[in-house]
Amino acid sequence: MKKLLLWLILLNLITIVPILVLAQENAPIDDALIGSEGIGDPYYPSMGNGGYDVQHYDLMLDVDMNARQIRATTIISAIATQPLAQFNLDFADLIISALSVDDQPAEYDQIEGELVIRPTAIIAPNTRFTVTVTYASHPNMERLGSWYFYDGGVMVAGEPQGASGWYPVNEHPSDKATYRYCVTVDDEYVVGANGTQERVTAQDGRTTYCWSSQDPMSSYLTTIAIGDFNIVTDKTRNGIPIRNYFTVNAPDDILNDFDLQADMIDFFETVFGPYPFEAYGAVVHNLELGFALETQTLSTFGIAFADESIIAHELAHQWFGNAVSPAAWQH
Ligand SMILES: [Zn+2]
Repeated sequence: MKKLLLWLILLNLITIVPILVLAQENAPIDDALIGSEGIGDPYYPSMGNGGYDVQHYDLMLDVDMNARQIRATTIISAIATQPLAQFNLDFADLIISALSVDDQPAEYDQIEGELVIRPTAIIAPNTRFTVTVTYASHPNMERLGSWYFYDGGVMVAGEPQGASGWYPVNEHPSDKATYRYCVTVDDEYVVGANGTQERVTAQDGRTTYCWSSQDPMSSYLTTIAIGDFNIVTDKTRNGIPIRNYFTVNAPDDILNDFDLQADMIDFFETVFGPYPFEAYGAVVHNLELGFALETQTLSTFGIAFADESIIAHELAHQWFGNAVSPAAWQH
């Protein structure tokens, strides 16, 4: 009788335990604990996400120029603005190999440009948390959102949404953050980016360039430039460093106009006020672009769309558009 009772108890446990586990996994999450899948932009309802405020992005990118592939880890430091049992990041269909929240592996789904994350524990409001995502792009993809592999280089320019093509992000200018990138490439390439170059380390035929931006930046203004560049430096009257990344293939008549940038900043400062960032400069890619973009502290140009007025236009955007930025895309 005792034995039979024991068996009955065991049988019950065996059947009940899986049901409990299943019930837990499928339990609907209270709406009050879910960060919204859009930040509330009337033009782009799914752009950005609610429930948190990103402070900093730390990107480590290994770039294979031959395979046209990136392998990366992005660490996002954010502050919760509500209790979060689930929240979203904007992210394209890159291949995720690991994802954790505060160093604990978290559940996630990738659904049409939204990365839906469920941490193991509910994040309390006003607490800082980190999301670490390790991923790779599919090989031989020419474009990853704003990231563009061309022959001998990479250009990154994408307004308004293109950043989520190469890193997980709260993709909206109303959630600006500081950034740091460390980009590893084969030795023959040079890497320029937003902000200030921190350090360069070389090992086994590969070189890692680290760049940091001390001022908050909208994600559409993030840029990384990879190529064969001549680096040309200058300084404004007030000591703002200028570092230009000119493709070695740029015709001289195009480059001459960029010599005016220091004078332009000196003049704009008398009209707009102090230059708002730590540095300025232009990258000129070996591409015949039909546009230019005011990527923060390092405006992006090609060899075919870069005259004095366009150079002045992208520079003026550093004050208007970049330092003072859109709260929503209709403005
Ligand atoms: Zn413009």
